Amino acid sequence: MRSETRGAAAAGLGGWKRDCWAGELRAADAGREVTLMGWVSRRREHGGVSFIDLRDRSGLVQVVLSGELAAWGAGLSPESVVAVRGRVALRPEGMANPELPTGEVEVAASDLRLLNRAKTPPIYTRDLAPRQHGAGGEKGSASAGERDAEGETGEAMRLRYRYLDLRRPRMQANLALRHRMVKAVRDYLDARGFWEVETPFLTRSTPEGARDYLVPARNAPGKFYALPQSPQIFKQLLMVAGVERYFQVVRCFRDEDLRADRQPEFTQIDIEMSFVEPADVVRLTEGLMAHIWREVLGVDLQTPFPRLDFAEAVASYGTDKPDLRFGMRIADLTAALEGCGFRVFGEAARRGEVVRGLAVPGGAAVFSRKDLDLLTREVQKFGAKGLVWAAFEPSGVRSPVSKFLTGEEVDTLRRLVGAGEGDLGLYVAAPPDTAAAALGHLRLHAAERLGLRDTAEWCFVWVVNYPLFEPDEETGGLGAKHHPFTAPFEEDLGLLETAPLKVRAKAYDLVLNGWELGGGSVRNHSREVQERVFEALGLAREEYLEKFGFLLEALEYGAPPHGGIALGVDRIAALLAGEESIREVIAFPKTTRAACLLSGAPSDVGTDQLAELGLRTRDRTFEPV
Ligand code: ASP
Repeated sequence: MRSETRGAAAAGLGGWKRDCWAGELRAADAGREVTLMGWVSRRREHGGVSFIDLRDRSGLVQVVLSGELAAWGAGLSPESVVAVRGRVALRPEGMANPELPTGEVEVAASDLRLLNRAKTPPIYTRDLAPRQHGAGGEKGSASAGERDAEGETGEAMRLRYRYLDLRRPRMQANLALRHRMVKAVRDYLDARGFWEVETPFLTRSTPEGARDYLVPARNAPGKFYALPQSPQIFKQLLMVAGVERYFQVVRCFRDEDLRADRQPEFTQIDIEMSFVEPADVVRLTEGLMAHIWREVLGVDLQTPFPRLDFAEAVASYGTDKPDLRFGMRIADLTAALEGCGFRVFGEAARRGEVVRGLAVPGGAAVFSRKDLDLLTREVQKFGAKGLVWAAFEPSGVRSPVSKFLTGEEVDTLRRLVGAGEGDLGLYVAAPPDTAAAALGHLRLHAAERLGLRDTAEWCFVWVVNYPLFEPDEETGGLGAKHHPFTAPFEEDLGLLETAPLKVRAKAYDLVLNGWELGGGSVRNHSREVQERVFEALGLAREEYLEKFGFLLEALEYGAPPHGGIALGVDRIAALLAGEESIREVIAFPKTTRAACLLSGAPSDVGTDQLAELGLRTRDRTFEPV
């Protein structure tokens, strides 16, 4: 044997050159001499011969080590890095593995080079649990035992050893999918005359409704940069600069209390265009989505996407990001039941409440009494006092409140939610916001239970006609529904000072299967209107001049009418990949406490470094998970 590196734990390439991918070998390659490089995925010994599954990014192929190489192979630890030279051969009769793309062949090794011996990995590097739908990933064929083991591996270990977790075919497929998606975005926008322009990360605060991440300025002790919550102001300045069509695949930073689908840093496709109305941005975005779906999944989306008024979305689906893969619209029964014998319903209007409900198709036979008790507790979490249910069965209605209602009133309960035989009616009497949130939640819960959330179905919808402002509970004043640069409808301008909550915004949000993919608006390009909006928001003149004076000034130097949108790359990639969490499509995500378990960020810094920045810290304890 020629390899001089046999005894060493690690070696360089020694002049060897990889000349093909392990996962691409097929029967037609039989007889070919190849040099492969990759990781030892699995190893087994049989009859004096050693078999290893050699894995690289493309997949894996079986390598056969016989003779002197067999003993050598038997000592290889899993995940060690090797180079193999050998000849591709058809597997012996009856030994083909139809589960594996390379399953008809194996590589009979003539030489092997150990490039780096690996310690036993603390987590699995194979896929164990099946993904939701196949977008290039492997369907798992794990035993229940293995799946439990993965569960026990736990999120924390996966993040701590992310470079091992990312070796799993599923994670590799996710990274590849995300790459293809971003490339499709760049190609589409480039073909339409958009320029990708970078905007600063060390900047001033950009209000998008979250807390800023601050960076202390060494040269100006006591002063701070803010990391951008979005490039909003800079992209508007690029329109003033005459760039006309801008985009950027850009990281944004928001210091929020994290939920499952949020990360402190996330990526947006940020777009801005001059001389446009909302319809232009909407059309461009629809084309972009259709292009992504075609390129990444080979799926043809139907455009234009439907549109829904904000108010209608909240009334009918209990949320402004409705999942339209299923019906179960929420109906209002307040007026129809006014005065009825069941006082919770009959006197709701007098208490300033509404009675709303929905029908779960086929739900009468699906939901047990215990389930319904659970649902009651669910709506109570949203502040509703209780839940009323009615099962519409062939023999008549079954409901704890039927004895308080006339036959006609029971019929109203059934008719207004559109329930048929076998359906379950669910009703809540509560203040409007509470009723919307509670029923919106029940709707999703019921859909999940009935298996109506098909991950291969794509229901896009634009939510439009948003109000410009919303009440700010903390201050008692107004807050911006989107951000303060959004333009009002021209015909509503007169209401800015007199009835600001009635002012509609030239804004649009794109929703897919209940996920908000992004949103945007046409902006204020006149200084006068922008100042009136700041004033309606209760900002003192000195305050908005201090924060946004540079934007207001720019608006006076020939700012064209402009508008744009930003779309969440992580969310789009997660949906395309059939993943439930954006963490699965981000190479190095953070925990819900915004910690990086791999690098140990955030971390302490030396007192010298702090002194240089003019900072002192108080001791705090921090739990990273
Ligand atoms: N800057 C906005 C955001 O990040 C999007 C936009 O209005 O274009 O949500």
